[in-house]
Amino acid sequence: MTEIRLTNTKTRKKEVFAPIDPNNVRMYVCGPTVYDRAHIGNARPVIVFDVLFRLLRHVYGDDHVTYVRNFTDVDDKINAEAQRRKDAGDPRTLEELIRERTDETIRWYHDDMGALGNLTPSAEPRATEYIGQMIAMISDLIAKGHAYEKEGHVLFRVRSYEAYGKLSGRSVDDMIAGARVEVAPFKEDPMDFVLWKPSTDDLPGWESPWGRGRPGWHIECSAMSHELLGQSFDIHGGGIDLQFPHHENEIAQSMCSHPEAEFARVWMHNEMLQVEGKKMSKSLGNFFTVRDLLEGNWSGGWKVPGEVIRFVYLGTHYSKPMDWTDEKAHQAEATLRKWRAMTNEVRPTANPASSVVEAIADDVNTAGAIAALHALAASGDAAGLKASAALLGLLGDEQGAWAVSEGPDAAVSALIEELLQARLNARKAKDFARADALRDGFAAAGVVVKDTPQGVEWEIAKGFDLSKLEALR
Ligand SMILES: [Zn+2]
Repeated sequence: MTEIRLTNTKTRKKEVFAPIDPNNVRMYVCGPTVYDRAHIGNARPVIVFDVLFRLLRHVYGDDHVTYVRNFTDVDDKINAEAQRRKDAGDPRTLEELIRERTDETIRWYHDDMGALGNLTPSAEPRATEYIGQMIAMISDLIAKGHAYEKEGHVLFRVRSYEAYGKLSGRSVDDMIAGARVEVAPFKEDPMDFVLWKPSTDDLPGWESPWGRGRPGWHIECSAMSHELLGQSFDIHGGGIDLQFPHHENEIAQSMCSHPEAEFARVWMHNEMLQVEGKKMSKSLGNFFTVRDLLEGNWSGGWKVPGEVIRFVYLGTHYSKPMDWTDEKAHQAEATLRKWRAMTNEVRPTANPASSVVEAIADDVNTAGAIAALHALAASGDAAGLKASAALLGLLGDEQGAWAVSEGPDAAVSALIEELLQARLNARKAKDFARADALRDGFAAAGVVVKDTPQGVEWEIAKGFDLSKLEALR
């Protein structure tokens, strides 16, 4: 059996993965708060853990892996968005508007993440469907002395859990100094966090032993993972931005509620995403949603196929910051177009190449797996390339429509082919000045042309410039 090694945030070591139950390998990943379109940073954990899900299914069998990713559909941002619609004159109730907003956002999320070639997890629980389990866990924490009620709020008593802060490697006092903790009169200690809070009549709320209210954010993941995966499971994933406080709080809640269990054995965190070397922000004008990339509403100005977006993400290891650039997207587009042409109509081998499996099994080294795919392509192993690419969610039949469509990028390929033909004609006519001008022109435009025994190969490289290419006509 393939040996999988994963870097565990909890131990800060790369460890050999040994599931609690190989017949049911269990993974939980924190999902989105559903009030708006997913931005391109939100797509990173989805792709990273989708590749791990595919690997686990490959190693343990499709029916022996349970992957849970939640939808946070109770949140003040959702309430604010619904309230905005109500203020704009919508006659419906706030509950109806909230439901409409969350349903719509979940649909968008499925569309966008599906366009990026991600599998649907085994379960996608919505927080509002697990309020009963959250209330039960909160009651249990109060009974065990780890939580207290004050003024309709229930708070987790952070200092009652000695290991608090271990995941992120910080002491509670350091965290107080570094974090923007809310000081409130109902808190015993500024670090204590909300498990339950009261709702006024104009906010969504549920009846509870502490009056009508709604849950804090952290409790949902503890309650839903327990309900769907049990008190100990294998892998918990999410973005590094969730490590503190969200994941520390999940651990505190779950470990204090079930001290005899382990909660999650392996914690994995993906690094953040930048755009053209800069932090993504609305004020810099480099903040894009996945939909913006798919529809061409971004600084690159072209419609990036979902498969191309995915390929760019896979090029960077999850533990490193990832930089989205227009140039990488163009290179990915050219590579995939070439691989699609090569594997079209080819029946894949029964199994992916071991080079690709081993790369992914080595701490989800997607960049290494892509390098292994390049080696398969270079050796002309189209059947192996197709089978192996599937393990990364690439070159699937259902995803390939873009590569045969007549978009602007098909136009670029057609132009390059036309110019290569012109170069061939010039050589045949012994017009060496024209042939050389085309050769130099390709280089200047960022198109690498290679004459091989099988024919001419080309590739779009660093600094591709369409206008220079068009000038060669
Ligand atoms: Zn969570």
